[in-house]
Amino acid sequence: MRKKVVAGNWKCNTTVQEGVELAKAVNELVATEGAKDVVVVLGTPFTHITKVVETVDNSRIGVAAQNCAAEAKGAFTGEVSAAMVKSTGAGYVILGHSERREYYGETSEILNKKVALTLENGLTPIYCCGEPLEIREAGTQKEFVINQLKETVFKLSADDFKKVIVAYEPIWAIGTGKTATTEQAQEMHKDLRDAMAAQYGQEVADEISILYGGSCNPKNANELFANPDVDGGLIGGASLKADDFLAIINAY
Ligand code: PGA
Repeated sequence: MRKKVVAGNWKCNTTVQEGVELAKAVNELVATEGAKDVVVVLGTPFTHITKVVETVDNSRIGVAAQNCAAEAKGAFTGEVSAAMVKSTGAGYVILGHSERREYYGETSEILNKKVALTLENGLTPIYCCGEPLEIREAGTQKEFVINQLKETVFKLSADDFKKVIVAYEPIWAIGTGKTATTEQAQEMHKDLRDAMAAQYGQEVADEISILYGGSCNPKNANELFANPDVDGGLIGGASLKADDFLAIINAY
């Protein structure tokens, strides 16, 4: 059976000290009250990763970077490589978030390099996809999002693709308080799984965790996660409060 995953995406929030406090609080709550069958991941800023890895019980909580360099190493001032992320003890990298695509010009070509380096270094990519509002209004979201996968992770071998976690995040729902309805989420997740089955076969498709992201909170998580093809969430704002994050973990 595929894994249920709840991953926090702290984005560009918290100082190192605040991040460690948050990680400590999440760690304690998850250890005592967290649903045992849910994989919990904290997506922290690069500066925090080493300390957060030290703070959490690594066997229970995974740590993710929110990006990595598209090159293995060398003269790329300011970049952080996948190998560096791996050396912190983190296990995951969030890739292709719509904010990175939009504000930092991340194309499919760049993302293919990042996905490859992440996998080469034994890290799990949490690969984000999702349509902007105008695409949703035009009704072409299915083609748009499947195309994002075709241009990137569908180029992987089946063995590598099986290591990927996919996060569907409709851009119009991110940080807006406007969540996709449970029907919209299920419909897209099913479409994505069908596309995965067409590409790799049903057996592979059934193993891939597809997370929903976009204004997911303790109030709506239950309904969203009840969908057969929604395998968890990528949580922004609500992951910055340990209680809210725990409530989402326990929404299954
Ligand atoms: P949000 O962000 O939960 O604050 O909408 C989700 C994300 O961007 O990963």
